[in-house]
Amino acid sequence: MAYKFIDNYREKGARKLLVKLLEKRGIEDKSVLRAIGKVPRHFFFDETFWIKAYQDIAFPIGDGQTISQPYTVAYQTELLHIKKGDKVLEIGTGSGYQTCILMELGAEVYTIERQRNLYERVIQVLPHMGYWPSFFYGDGSKGIEEHAPYDKIIVTAGAPMVPEVMLKQLKIGGILVIPVGDEKQQKMVTILRVGEDDFDRIELDTFRFVPLVGDEAW
Ligand code: SAM
Repeated sequence: MAYKFIDNYREKGARKLLVKLLEKRGIEDKSVLRAIGKVPRHFFFDETFWIKAYQDIAFPIGDGQTISQPYTVAYQTELLHIKKGDKVLEIGTGSGYQTCILMELGAEVYTIERQRNLYERVIQVLPHMGYWPSFFYGDGSKGIEEHAPYDKIIVTAGAPMVPEVMLKQLKIGGILVIPVGDEKQQKMVTILRVGEDDFDRIELDTFRFVPLVGDEAW
């Protein structure tokens, strides 16, 4: 894949239209919309497919994986209620686009990917764009114990259930956003840790994610 890091007026214009579309689809958080308006999503596409970068669609990034649909990225991010300085664990780095959105909101991001090729690519691309999260390679279905606890955890692949171990890595008051279901479709689940052993769980809309694969997943 040949990446080109040029942000022309045409791409900037397309990005503004994407923000308007997401607003129409119900994304209300202005800071999330601002972040979507700022991060050049076409930087994650081969130049041949730049035309696709600002359509509200998921797109293949190799190794059977996808860059998430912008609406899904905005939806999950909104649910996290990111505050500047929040320590966020992202499970499923993929292209790194979601990582950039979290960092635009001021989060300190720990991100983990299990596909070697994607990991190797993202550790080049993001620093080149000026984003320096903490990158990890491996099975994120167990979270990352050594850096816990986190203010927020976001899972960007579909899980069969909520891994217990992730709940333990949340701070009290912390939020986990995770799609849970079967291979075909998942409900977006948010879990707020209200006490040591006390969790509030809400099930929201239906999505379709690639599977979360690992010891605590598929
Ligand atoms: N937000 C990402 C983006 O916009 O590019 C979405 C990436 S894709 C929908 C989900 C990613 O989760 C894939 O790259 C996949 O390899 C990764 N993944 C699946 N299971 C994983 C696991 N156990 N640990 C870490 N990453 C995992």
